[in-house]
Amino acid sequence: MKIKPLITEFASLSIKEIKRYSRHVLLPEIGLENQKRISNSKILVIGAGGLGSPILLYLAASGVKELGICDFDVVDETNLQRQILFNNQSIGKDKAQEAKEKINELNPNVKVTVFNEMITSKNAEKIVKDFDLVIDGSDNFATRYLLNDVCVFLDKPYIWASIYRFDGQLSVFWKKHGPCYRCLHPEPPPTNMVQTCASGGVLASMCATIASLQVTQALQLITGVGDVLIGQVLSYSALDANFRKVKVDKDPDCVICGKNPSITSLIDYEQFCGPVKPRKDPGIKAIELKQMLDKRNKNELDFLLVDIREVPEKNLVEIEGSVFINRDDIFANDGISLIPKDKQVVLYCRSGNRSTEVMNYLKHNGFLEVTHLEGGIISWVQEVETHKASY
Ligand SMILES: [Zn+2]
Repeated sequence: MKIKPLITEFASLSIKEIKRYSRHVLLPEIGLENQKRISNSKILVIGAGGLGSPILLYLAASGVKELGICDFDVVDETNLQRQILFNNQSIGKDKAQEAKEKINELNPNVKVTVFNEMITSKNAEKIVKDFDLVIDGSDNFATRYLLNDVCVFLDKPYIWASIYRFDGQLSVFWKKHGPCYRCLHPEPPPTNMVQTCASGGVLASMCATIASLQVTQALQLITGVGDVLIGQVLSYSALDANFRKVKVDKDPDCVICGKNPSITSLIDYEQFCGPVKPRKDPGIKAIELKQMLDKRNKNELDFLLVDIREVPEKNLVEIEGSVFINRDDIFANDGISLIPKDKQVVLYCRSGNRSTEVMNYLKHNGFLEVTHLEGGIISWVQEVETHKASY
């Protein structure tokens, strides 16, 4: 999507600064005018970790006016594998403060504001309000929903990303131009199923790939150059060097950016992402699945139908044309690697509960074209294969 430049006022640059940023100025699309926009921009980066490190370094090198760094953690040895702001001498020091020093070594023109605290519903508006846009380098769902919501309320672009192992994804959410994070993920994933880089690992250079894409989006928003990822999620798989874009629509029923929002102020995000929460993830009806299978039989449609139940359930009754990948194998073993990211996937279980859970989990892991059979195989035998209705 093309948008007008976010920054409308220009910084005045000295001859020395123009020389410093000359490789930007030389780009016809950027030029001196857009460098002056960049040099007048104020960007908040949440998290100075695997994503935050390259984000902050590239923004500082690009010559932004001000960087906000929000991080309450200290550097530990395991961070050094990817958090390139830090070195051996940084171990045990506050990340945000240490990041500030490194940024000013790189570019003393950049004003750095340190928020050595956790961003919460209590302080979020105060932290975010003076910045032009927010870039998310955090690694947890409570922070993502909080940042989304505060950016909706304050009308700021929110550049989101998530990374895990060899995969990453990102998008730009901005209510007035497109969907928000809640339109993409109405519900957080099941808490006991959340995988983090701390438990599952992450490839160092992949962090830089995604962070660099986030910075590019920020520079494009600031200058209005090119098309930004509003209404699209870009996913990247390092193992096969594959980039994919998937369209995301604004949800008219979104609880925060829809027509009748039920969330009108910041909520308790720890609780929202906690273990007890309502589920609402509609899937497809049995009749629709029947039509899809008929089309697939005629080679008019390609999708994968996955039975996620247990073996004894499968032996009792199954939908013809489905493959069997057990739910626990998807969560705990390598079952997830058997599910394709580049085609539509329909999951089913007995009644629709387990398939909702697995769908939610897969969506948060970059499987954006996954849906499930509402009411499970019970509704299938009631509505389609009625002769099997004894199941
Ligand atoms: Zn929304």
